Amino acid sequence: MSLRHGRTYHAIPGPSVVPDRVLQAMHRAAPNIYEGALLEMTETLIPDLKRLAQTETGHVAIYIGNGHAGWEASNANLFNRGDRVLLLATGRFGHGWAASLQGMGVEVDMVDFGRHSPADPAVLAERLATDRGHAYRAVVCTHVDTASTARSDIPALRAALDATGHPALLMVDGIASVGCDEMRMDAWGVDVLVAASQKGVMVPPGLAFVWFSEKARAAGRDATLRTPYWNWEPRIAPEFYYQYFCGTAPTHHLFGLREALDMLIHEEGLEAAWERHARLARAVWAAAEAWGRGGAMALNVAEPAARAHAVTALRLDAPDGTRLRKWCDEQGGVTLGIGLGMAEPGEAAWHGFFRLAHMGHVNAHMTLGALAVMDAGLKVLDIPHGHGALDAASAALTTPLAKVSSATAHPPQPAWVDPGLATTA
Ligand SMILES: *Cc1c(COP(=O)(O)O)cnc(C)c1O
Repeated sequence: MSLRHGRTYHAIPGPSVVPDRVLQAMHRAAPNIYEGALLEMTETLIPDLKRLAQTETGHVAIYIGNGHAGWEASNANLFNRGDRVLLLATGRFGHGWAASLQGMGVEVDMVDFGRHSPADPAVLAERLATDRGHAYRAVVCTHVDTASTARSDIPALRAALDATGHPALLMVDGIASVGCDEMRMDAWGVDVLVAASQKGVMVPPGLAFVWFSEKARAAGRDATLRTPYWNWEPRIAPEFYYQYFCGTAPTHHLFGLREALDMLIHEEGLEAAWERHARLARAVWAAAEAWGRGGAMALNVAEPAARAHAVTALRLDAPDGTRLRKWCDEQGGVTLGIGLGMAEPGEAAWHGFFRLAHMGHVNAHMTLGALAVMDAGLKVLDIPHGHGALDAASAALTTPLAKVSSATAHPPQPAWVDPGLATTA
C-alpha cells in the first residue's frame, strides 16, 4: 500500500512543473523553419522576453542549451583570455560559473559568502576600492543560489559598484529567479542577465536566455573568446531567420515558450507572479519555523530578506533529511530536492539537507499539500518537530504582501494567436 498513487508532484528546483498547456502547445507536427507561423511567432517572443527581465533598452539572445550554456554564451561575448573578474559566490552556482570562466581562460577572484548568506554589498565595495587600476572587467553574481536558497540584493550590489565608481559590468545569474523573484534589469543596472527555460519559465530544459545592456554589448565588441555559435550579434539582429539560433530553431520549445509567456505575462501578470511566489515562500518559511520550535528543522538562510522566493533549503539532522525526503516521495507522491552541494566538510553527503521548490507553475494547493505531506512524514517517522506548521502556513499564505513597487516598463501586448489552433477552435 502506498499513498502516492495519484498525480505526483516533483517539487525540485528545476526542471520545474511544466503546465499541461505548455506541453500541449509543444505537441504538434514539426513546423516549417523557413516560412510561416514559427517565424512570425518567434518575433513575438522577443518583446515578451524583454518584459520578463524588465528591460526596454537591453537585448535578448536565445540559445539552444541549459543554464551552463547561458553562462558560456555570456563569457564568450565579453572576455579575452587573461581578463579578470570578481565573482561573488553564495552557495553552489557561483562556483559553477567560476569554473566556466576559468575553463575559458578568464581569471576569477572569488569572494565566497558561504552556504547560508547572500552577497554582502559592503564587502563588494571594499574589494572594488582596492582595485584602483580597474582590472576587474565584471562583477559576477548569483541572484538566487538554488542550493543554499540565498537571494542577493542586486540593487544594493549595483549601488556598491556605483559608489566606488568602478566601471565593471554587473553580470547576474537569474536562472532560478527570473519569473519568480522580482527582477528589473534596467532599473537595477544589470548589464548581463542569464536564465534558462526549465525553472521559473515553466518550459522543459533546452533554452538559455542572455539579456545584455548596450554597455555590455560595447564592452564585448572585440572579445576574442567569441566564436560563431555563441556570438550574440546575429541573434539580436538576424538578417534571416536561420541566424536567430545559428542553425535550426528549437521549434517545439519555442511554441512551449510562447504559451508559457502568455500565461506568465499576459494572463497572470509578472508582478502577480512575483507576489504568488513570495506568498508560497512565506507559507513554507512559516511551516519550517513552527516545526523548528520543537525539533531540528531549520531554514538554511536565517534572514527572511535574503531568502529565495522560488525554493527553500531546509536543514534537519542527518539522516532525517533523507528519511523524510524518501517518505514524502514513496508515500506522499511529493519529490523534494536533494541538498545539492550543501554537505559541510566531513559531513555525510546531503542527508541533513533537502529543498522544497515553489518555483514556476505552483499554486496554493501544491505548496500546502507538500507541507502537509512533510508534516505527516515527520509524525510517522517520529522525527521531533514543533506543531502548528499547517496553521502557520495557511495564515502566511493568505496574508497579502505590501504591494510590490510597480514600474512596469512595457505596455501590454495582445497575445500571439496560433493560426493552426485558431482554425480548428
Ligand atoms: C539550475 C541552475 C543553474 C544551472 O542550470 P543548468 O540548466 O543545469 O545548466 C545555474 N545557476 C542557477 C542559479 C541554477 O538554479
